[in-house]
Amino acid sequence: MADNSTASNAEPIVGPFTDMVQQFPTAVWNAIASNIPGDLHWDRILITLFFAILIFFYYQGRGSKGADGYERKVGILQFLLPVDIYTHVSARVDIWLWVLERVLRPFWVVALFATVGPYTEQSVIAGLEFLLGATPALETNFIWMLLYALVSLLCYDFIFYVIHYTMHKTPALWAIHKIHHSAEVLTPLTRSREHFLAGPIWAAGSALSFGFAAGLFAYLFDGGITQATLFNVGFFSFLFGLTGAFRHYHVQFRYPRWLEKWIQSPAMHHTHHSYLRKHWDTNMAAVTSIYDRMFGTLYIPEQDEYTPWGIGPETQHEYRTFWQNTIGPFRDWYKMIASGSSPQAGAAPESD
Ligand SMILES: [Zn+2]
Ligand SMILES: [Zn+2]
Repeated sequence: MADNSTASNAEPIVGPFTDMVQQFPTAVWNAIASNIPGDLHWDRILITLFFAILIFFYYQGRGSKGADGYERKVGILQFLLPVDIYTHVSARVDIWLWVLERVLRPFWVVALFATVGPYTEQSVIAGLEFLLGATPALETNFIWMLLYALVSLLCYDFIFYVIHYTMHKTPALWAIHKIHHSAEVLTPLTRSREHFLAGPIWAAGSALSFGFAAGLFAYLFDGGITQATLFNVGFFSFLFGLTGAFRHYHVQFRYPRWLEKWIQSPAMHHTHHSYLRKHWDTNMAAVTSIYDRMFGTLYIPEQDEYTPWGIGPETQHEYRTFWQNTIGPFRDWYKMIASGSSPQAGAAPESD
């Protein structure tokens, strides 16, 4: 006999994060299952290849870059799967760094999504209830769901930008993020090439940003809203997933210049990975160009701009192997402490 139907108004709002924590064991399993086998996102890689083939025909063999960072005209096989890139030691190290990071990632994701996420969400709900009173319990519709997806994305992109910017500008954190930039060639796996210590930082950032948006919309809709989705993925996350897979591919996928002022084209990430001084610390957001434009780090490259990848000839030899990349941050920190926290260690690309 369900006799508690009258109590529904007095129930605290349960946001999506809190709801997830209540299903903790399932969440643990989902995080592991979705990270380990499904992580390569073969569908996205196939779509990347599809667009690359279109680019090949449209530009008649032009538009891809070699391991040296120069654009070149090649045949279709070399265009899609260039030997110089996929046999490069950097591409091989990508694999091992990806394996280690992915084995550890579920633990960070679960730990931080289960703590930072719900905490942020509940704080936002409590804060709004304090400021504005009880939930307006708005009626949801597709436009609102789309707006929720958009606000989530903008929050995520902002936090991503702040973390990424801080990692580039703070020597102790650059020591970690440098492992992503020590890639001398770009392959779809480079996207996941990170030092294992970067995992918790990015996971905390995601939990914070999604928790913020989730709290805001849970308050407005009394917990009764979900994001608009495309193929069961958040609407904008789906689009980002596609462009994200392309960001670390050697084929240049550009948008018209006016659009690149709003959304980062995958090719704009080529400059982010270049060791040329004019490219340092550019294009740091994940999806939009808004924050880069706001904070003066947007760089829209010329057609076929030369982008030699890696951390530069002076220190690249210290970051070739899996082992060098894994101990890199610890060695840098040791040097910093030994030299009295001098920011010299590891030659961080400090803009001045
Ligand atoms: Zn970076
Ligand atoms: Zn990258």
